[in-house]
Order: sequence, then C-alpha cells, then structure tokens
Amino acid sequence: MASISQIFSSYPPVAVQEAEAEGAPREDHSQSSLISIIQHYSLSHGLAMYPPNFTGSSSTHAPTTVYPSPFPASSFHKALEVQKRFNQLYVKVASDEEWLSNILEDLSKYDKSFTGKLWESYQLSKKIGIKQKLSLGIFRSDYMIHQKSKDEFVIKQIEFNTISVSFGGLSTLVADLHRYLYSSGVYNNHSKSIDTNNNNNIEYSLDSLPESKSAFEIAKGLASGHNAYLKSSLSSSNSNSESSTAILMIVQPNERNIFDQTKVTNYLFSKYNIKSYRLTLSDIESKTNISKTGHLYHNESGDEISVVYYRSAYAPSDFTSEKDWKARVSLETTWAIKCPTLLMQLAGAKKVQQLLTDKEILSKFTINDKTETLNDILDTFVKIYPLDDSPLGLEARKIAFSNPENFVLKPQREGGGNNIYKQNIPTFLNSIPEDEWAGYILMELITPPNFQNTIVREGQSITDDVVSELGVFGSILYDDKGNVVDGVNYESGWLLRSKFKSSDEGGVAAGFGCVDSVYLV
Ligand code: ADP
Ligand code: MG
Repeated sequence: MASISQIFSSYPPVAVQEAEAEGAPREDHSQSSLISIIQHYSLSHGLAMYPPNFTGSSSTHAPTTVYPSPFPASSFHKALEVQKRFNQLYVKVASDEEWLSNILEDLSKYDKSFTGKLWESYQLSKKIGIKQKLSLGIFRSDYMIHQKSKDEFVIKQIEFNTISVSFGGLSTLVADLHRYLYSSGVYNNHSKSIDTNNNNNIEYSLDSLPESKSAFEIAKGLASGHNAYLKSSLSSSNSNSESSTAILMIVQPNERNIFDQTKVTNYLFSKYNIKSYRLTLSDIESKTNISKTGHLYHNESGDEISVVYYRSAYAPSDFTSEKDWKARVSLETTWAIKCPTLLMQLAGAKKVQQLLTDKEILSKFTINDKTETLNDILDTFVKIYPLDDSPLGLEARKIAFSNPENFVLKPQREGGGNNIYKQNIPTFLNSIPEDEWAGYILMELITPPNFQNTIVREGQSITDDVVSELGVFGSILYDDKGNVVDGVNYESGWLLRSKFKSSDEGGVAAGFGCVDSVYLV
C-alpha cells in the first residue's frame, strides 16, 4: 500500500503523466474524449453553471476536476465529526447578544458600510420586534489539510460560513460524476493503469470515492425549519396547511450558480413536497406582503412563507439601495424562520473567528460541553491575530511587516476576492490609515500538499499543480436561548473545491477554482 505522500506525488492516474512525458502541450488532447464524457454527464445531470454575461439558455458544465482528489481519510472523518460541535458553538455565540454587541459596536466603526449596516439593521429589527424565536442555521466550515509530518495530516479551518453557503448541490453531482467515471470503466479506458499498474499507486474503489449527500442534507435542514414553522401555533391560522406554505429563497439577480440551488430545491419538492420561491432583496417590497400579524406572504401564489433562506445578502453589492436594507429588516421582523438571522450572519464575522481561537473565549461558549469539544475545535485552528492595540495586536502589527510571506490579511467580508496575501500585506497596510487596521485579522497561511489534477472549465482542460479545500455543511434549528430544537443538529455532507496552486483564492464562479470530490487515502 502506497503512503499518502506517495499518492500525492504520483497523482493523477497515468494517462495525463504519459501525455506530458511525451511533451504534450498543457491543453491535453489525449483526454479529449474523457472531457466530452464529463461535459455530457454534467449537462445531463445539472452539474452546470451559467457563464459570465449569460442569457437564459446558455448554461455550461460546471468547472470540475477530471479525477477526484486524494484526501487523507482520517482528516476527512475528523472534519465531518467536529461539525455538530461547530454548529452548536456558533449558535451559542449568536445567542450571546451581550458578548457580540461589544465586538460588533467596535467592528461597526471600522466597517461602517457593511458590518455597521448589518448591526444597525439588527438594532432596528429589535426595536420593531423580532417575533420568531426559532432560527435555522445552514453552515459550512472550510478546511485545508496541514502536513504535520511525512504521512500525518490534520485539518485546519479556513473559515466558518454562517450565511449563503454554496455548492451543496453541485458537490453531490460531482461526487456522482467521479463515481460514474470510475465504476463505468471510463477512467480505465482513458487512464490505462488506474487499477492494474501499481506504479501510480491509484486504487480507486467505490468505498474510497464516497457519495456527497450535501444536496439532500441541506434540503432536509430546510425541511426541518419548514416543519417547525408549521408545527408552531404561531403560523397563521387561516392557511395552516402544508400546501399553501413555502420557503422563500433570497437570491442574487443573475445568479450564475443557480443549478447548485435548484438541485437542493428540486429535492426539497420531490422528497418533502415543499415549494420554494426565488426573489431578490429588491423584489421584496413589491412581490411579498406582510400581514398585520407579521406573517409573510408571496404575492403571486398567495403562499405563506415558512423559512426565509438567504443565498444573497452576504456582500455589500447584494444591497443595491436603502430599499434592500429595508427589505432585510422587514423580513427579519416577520414570523418566518430566518436562515440565517442577522445575529447569526454577524456571528460569522472573521473577527469572531479570530476571537474564538483564544482558548479562554472559546471555553466560555463550550463550558457545558465535554473537554473533547474544546480540544477538537481548538485542534482545527491556526494562529489568527487581531490588528488592534492589544498586546497580541501589537505583536501582529510587527509580524505583518517582518514576515508577511506566511500570512493572509482578511477584512470583514465574505464571498471571495477580498483578502490580501503575503508580500502585498505591508503595502496594503501602509496604504490605509493605521486606525483602520483593527478592522482586519491576520491569519497564518495553511500550505496543503499539492498534487497534479486536470481542471475542465468551459470545455478547456488544464493540468497543473492543485490544492484542495474541504467544506463541511451543517444544519441546526435553535431557539432564542441557543437550545437545539427537535434534535436538529446535523453534519450535512461535504464539498471539495480545488484550485491551481498558483492562485491564492479558490472562487469557483470567479474562475479560480472548481468543484471536486474526494478520493480517500
Ligand atoms: P471569503 O469569506 O471571502 O470566502 P476566505 O477566508 O474563505 O474568504 O478566503 C478565501 C480563500 O482564500 C479560501 O477559500 C482559501 O482558498 C484562501 N485562504 C483563506 N485563508 C487561508 C489560509 N489561512 N491559508 C491558506 N489559504 C487561505
Ligand atoms: Mg470562503
């Protein structure tokens, strides 16, 4: 049996390597029929995306790897196991308004235009009255693996996302694609020695290529929110039946990643008979109405809304005007269950992530848990520094200039493309007033092992060194005291994304990365 590092160094299966040895160009034509099979499978199963500047009928296959990427099995299982603890941790954080308010008051000063507006919207919602006591979290915790020693790998957290987590739908599809390519013999035909020639140490089996259940699990999480709404005596009495109640997804206009979302909502309907509607924040005023009792209705169908599920509202660009901020507040104050609430969105701030790496602070939120919980969570953290005037912050201000190569600087933003990497950090810090530095966190860079794989994007394939990032989804239903409701606290499947090693960020739609699946080693 080959060691994990041998597998990384001999990846991917032989066809690609042979072609390269013969001096084939990076655009590898020996694989063209394999690429066609991938495209056909993808388009026929909805493993698709709209290209930039699309029109309604111009979808393309989603960018994927040709081969599943090797991932240490022990790290994979560890990441899945710790998810429920993270779900619970963030629920406790979001339920501790006093603790959060100190941090958010402060953060709002540095990031008035977004964190400040979210915090203000929360205050306003509270003033109007937040009726619904139940909330739903659909989260994703992202990790890279860190090589501790030759064959010892551990997971390290990149970030914890509390709003609009994506790729739960496509992840299920890409794992199915890779399992299909293996089990139907396509890999064997195109990569001659996957099973037989042990030179490359690749021994796929259906056990080592696990299914990704994320699309179904996220739908299940949404269904539990929906059912809890129906069950509660608080849903409106005049239409308290399943057929006239639906989930409302708040989406971005011209969403390119729509098929990721429809994979979940199609399943939500076929399995749970739950309808869903898609509206943008700007649509809310004209396409919904709120009854005097605070129940939310979808105008066109007349359906009552059980859950407001945000797949938007995580970036400043999602709020095009004051009207959109107003919409966010009016939704927050309806009876519909929010996924997530404003407080939970704010609990996902990068500043909060940094503070939770402090053992004392983390202990505060895990106090009633077993010590394992604290340690299992702590084990996943790398060093994250504040850049304020605390002793640790002052240390970090020095490190940012003396040793930027090992760090990434992050503002309070989500959605990719916002971070500052390595040698760009000093220049960036010098370009902004020093009293704004406290709005950023300085995070140690994780350097996962790289290996070769082929990425197919809009019909083009490129083989190069890649690195992978594992995301683990989680669902949790909780009340205003931070208690789990109906036992809904699940790990909800996983996602692997891979990107060329040469790119700092891994945005799939942005063109940096692609969806992938794991080959457990
Ligand atoms: P965003 O909220 O904008 O998605 P992230 O914190 O997830 O920001 O960072 C975006 C990407 O940058 C990640 O997906 C990862 O590829 C890379 N990245 C972020 N933090 C680190 C880190 N500590 N080490 C290595 N890569 C990182
Ligand atoms: Mg991210």
